Amino acid sequence: MVEEQNRIVCETCPHHCRLVEGARGVCRACINDGGSIVPENYGRLTSLALDPIEKKPLARFMPGTFVVSVGSYGCNLRCPFCQNAEISQAGASDVPWRSVSPEELVSLTCEARSRDPRVVGIAYTYNEPLVGWEYARDCARIAHKEGLVNVLVSNGCVELCVIDELTGLIDAANIDLKGFTDAFYDACAAGRGALECVKRTIERLAADPSCHLEVTTLVVPGMNDSEAEIDAAARWLAGLDGGRGAETLTYHVTRFFPQWSMTDRAATPVQDVHRLADVARRHLNHVYIGNC
Ligand code: SF4
Ligand code: SF4
Repeated sequence: MVEEQNRIVCETCPHHCRLVEGARGVCRACINDGGSIVPENYGRLTSLALDPIEKKPLARFMPGTFVVSVGSYGCNLRCPFCQNAEISQAGASDVPWRSVSPEELVSLTCEARSRDPRVVGIAYTYNEPLVGWEYARDCARIAHKEGLVNVLVSNGCVELCVIDELTGLIDAANIDLKGFTDAFYDACAAGRGALECVKRTIERLAADPSCHLEVTTLVVPGMNDSEAEIDAAARWLAGLDGGRGAETLTYHVTRFFPQWSMTDRAATPVQDVHRLADVARRHLNHVYIGNC
């Protein structure tokens, strides 16, 4: 957090919002409260569900188990195809929420585990969990004490100081690599340097032996569906983790459906998803297709 005249600069993500007292950031989740940037959405849950871990998606982490999945409101991106726009593009007054403390969340997850031993942990997901990363951190610490695992589903578009705060707490992550061009991230209103920021996050998590990493690209027709782009992304992923990425990383190539403000095109043809997954397999050993 940096002070600039009357404004406080939030350093969580590439937007680096400069907020006067009482102002909210682009994400609608963080606010300048009394000269400090605080996550106003802390513990405010809009969504809570028990999901198979494969739905996150995680294909190669504790298959057959379930995670209590929670989300709040707010996101630092504005992807026109967002499936969760009613919460990701909302602020506190736009959507119903209920307050759930970290202790309460862990307690209800333990109760779910006592009813079904296939429940293994908590997933921070649905909206963008890292615009309120403090809640994930606090829940994850208590969850680990109870023998639960922590799963992060994120756009990855945060500065490394946030990832550092969560090191050792997140057991598995699925990070979006939305596209492999600046133009794609511009279309998601992600802020300057967003692609490089996401790449740094993926690079850091890939090198962390305590975190299982999977990466997802939603293939949107006309935006990121060229063989050259998927080839470049997969080649880069394969080079991570000291050149072991081909074996250690899992990559999901998933199908777009018209959503929210992107209804001007049809769903990705299934054969295109398969073809692009085969392109990724030139470099990576663990490639999955989704939504087909
Ligand atoms: S998390 Fe990003 S979008 Fe939200 S206030 Fe901080 S810099 Fe702005
Ligand atoms: S990053 Fe995810 S939650 Fe945020 S707008 Fe994009 S698709 Fe929606």
